Amino acid sequence: MQLRILGCSGGIGAGNRTTALLLGRHVLIDAGTGLGELTMDELAQIDHVFLTHAHMDHIACLPMLIDTVFSKRTQPITVHGCSATLAALREHVFNWRIWPDFTAIPSPEAGMLRLCTFEAGETRSAAGCGITALPVRHTVPALAYALDSGHSTLVFSGDTADCAEFWGAVNALPQLATLIIETAFADHEQALAEVSRHFSPRQLIAALSQLARPEQVQILITHLKPADQELTMREVLASGGHYRIARLAQGQTIEF
Ligand SMILES: [Zn+2]
Ligand SMILES: [Zn+2]
Repeated sequence: MQLRILGCSGGIGAGNRTTALLLGRHVLIDAGTGLGELTMDELAQIDHVFLTHAHMDHIACLPMLIDTVFSKRTQPITVHGCSATLAALREHVFNWRIWPDFTAIPSPEAGMLRLCTFEAGETRSAAGCGITALPVRHTVPALAYALDSGHSTLVFSGDTADCAEFWGAVNALPQLATLIIETAFADHEQALAEVSRHFSPRQLIAALSQLARPEQVQILITHLKPADQELTMREVLASGGHYRIARLAQGQTIEF
């Protein structure tokens, strides 16, 4: 199975696109500005979008995706997320003020957008993968995703601070080979990381001590805030050099 990294930055600016990962050709994980990397034909093939949470950097391109491919598709796009994420989309985005309500276009019986509740602990099949929602701890209800190709498992943390339930779920995955985990802020912004429930390098490396079989796992760092991205990554490598750890790159394709 292939996971294509369309965007993995914690912000924008030349060369930086926010979180969007393409699993195979038909499944998207988060819908940040990385979606701008896809052609019209590629966009039109997206059938499912699994959202980690409702923050703007993870949903920014979802409204325009649906509008852009509307005339090219006959089947709806299904958006999966926890109930709070979907409620936020209904109330704050697809409300006829920020964007049209595509759950009722072209008709209430056959909307182009379907919202499908998906809670931590549940597993669904898509793109030939088992996709399991895992608990995380962020400022809004949020999920991580475990993607099981049958050969190996990749976990994408989304946005999170340290969370014992997350590590418990990760350690229960026998085939875990890849962990994509966020580190948004550099250590000098640890207070901001704590209040916004993100990791700083110091917090991440402390949290990684809970990973049961680190020697089996390639750890890839995502969601670096652009202003301090080089510094943050240097700090991760300085204190986490004993792990198999590297920076996730926009444009990278991961086979698992
Ligand atoms: Zn967030
Ligand atoms: Zn984010």
